Amino acid sequence: MGYSFLSLVREALRGQTGWRPAWRDAAPKPAYDAIVVGGGGHGLATGYYLAKEHGLTNIAVLEKSYIGGGNTGRNTTIIRSNYLLPGNERMYEKSMQLWEGLEQDLNYNAMVSQRGVLNLYHSDAQRDVYARRGNAMRLHGVDAALLNETGVRKLYPWLDFDNARFPIRGGLLQRRGGTARHDAVAWGFAHGADRLGVDIVQNCEVTGFRISGGAVQGVETTRGYIAAPKIGLAVAGSTSRVAALAGLRLPIESHVLQAFVSEGVKPLVDGVLTFGAGHFYVSQSDKGGLVFGGDIDGYNSYAQRGSMPVVEDVMESGMAIMPAIGRLRVLRQWGGLVDMSMDGSPIIDRTPIDGLYLNAGWCYGGFKATPGSGWCFAHTMARDEPHFINSALRLDRFATGAVLDERGAGPTPNLH
Ligand SMILES: Cc1cc2nc3c(=O)[nH]c(=O)nc-3n(C[C@H](O)[C@H](O)[C@H](O)COP(=O)(O)OP(=O)(O)OC[C@H]3O[C@@H](n4cnc5c(N)ncnc54)[C@H](O)[C@@H]3O)c2cc1C
Repeated sequence: MGYSFLSLVREALRGQTGWRPAWRDAAPKPAYDAIVVGGGGHGLATGYYLAKEHGLTNIAVLEKSYIGGGNTGRNTTIIRSNYLLPGNERMYEKSMQLWEGLEQDLNYNAMVSQRGVLNLYHSDAQRDVYARRGNAMRLHGVDAALLNETGVRKLYPWLDFDNARFPIRGGLLQRRGGTARHDAVAWGFAHGADRLGVDIVQNCEVTGFRISGGAVQGVETTRGYIAAPKIGLAVAGSTSRVAALAGLRLPIESHVLQAFVSEGVKPLVDGVLTFGAGHFYVSQSDKGGLVFGGDIDGYNSYAQRGSMPVVEDVMESGMAIMPAIGRLRVLRQWGGLVDMSMDGSPIIDRTPIDGLYLNAGWCYGGFKATPGSGWCFAHTMARDEPHFINSALRLDRFATGAVLDERGAGPTPNLH
């Protein structure tokens, strides 16, 4: 069903009795033209763009639990496209452009809010690094503004500019960056895909693959065998486990990343702020809670819960730039499973098995990529080759050495 001003008026007059579910609860068919494994934002976006851009409608998105229950519903909702390397920049900027028209496109309110993302810098050397990144962005047609201390003071006068260890000297601002409501993004893509005929099958875990002659034939699931000549994996933190079912070993590790929400307060943080001398990012939700996070826990895990030392570390980083946060109580905390690649950049590509495609390696930052990732993955699956936009996000870059290491940190997930 579609949402419009007229439908709101009609339902108001009918006592809200005519609303139908935003997507069908589909039962799996024995065969599809294409299957996407994983009903997070990326999987649902892939289903949507396969139908919308490539005319494939006999397709299913299979989710082992409920849609959006993975990282999509667990992240800190930041969207931005402030990347340095061209191989990343063009995909994240494609994503940003899709965010800008997404709600109209999907006919769904995903609460996209371009409130600005400001990365703080604390030294001259860090300013130069940010200037380089901002210049690279502008050369690619992406907005970036380098602010000095006065510029940051105008936006956030309450920050601790004179912290003895990490004085704030300025920041790199992307005004088009911001936030989107994470679970509404999953629901919006489900709504849009369902309207185009895509089956969204929940409680359907993929437990194996049938592969013959080097080509994938279908998937074994907890709801029976389903045949398909094209199968895309978009299972984020479960990537290594699901790929292993097809005999693939990937350059990906699963790590826990935690998020925190404080009690609600009056408007304070009206954009997104990140600390440059540690790992801390914060925004404020529409309900008033400060939403923030920091580093991964640093050990491999498939458990969606975190450990105390990282809680302390995140709070310390927060206190370094905004001591006011120390007066707030944390209301909720949770963990998600991030798929850390060895260079910190994602993979959207074919695999050595014909008909099996891979979307993974999103590290800390796959939420912002949701529309762009789905768009590129749909193209790669439909045409059997990457689009120019995701042409650098190849799986074989780890064999050839053409890695995309934004931070120059090497193959060390906890540094990406
Ligand atoms: C705490 C936290 C904060 C984050 N903050 C940000 C942020 O601010 N900005 C940003 O850009 N990114 C952020 N991220 C990263 C971002 O959330 C992820 O990179 C992105 O959501 C991953 O893609 P996805 O949405 O498809 O994954 P998910 O939502 O995890 O979807 C994968 C789905 O696959 C399903 N699945 C797994 N195995 C199977 C199987 N065998 N069969 C069927 N289904 C299966 C899972 O149940 C899951 O629903 C954050 C992540 C976390 C954990």
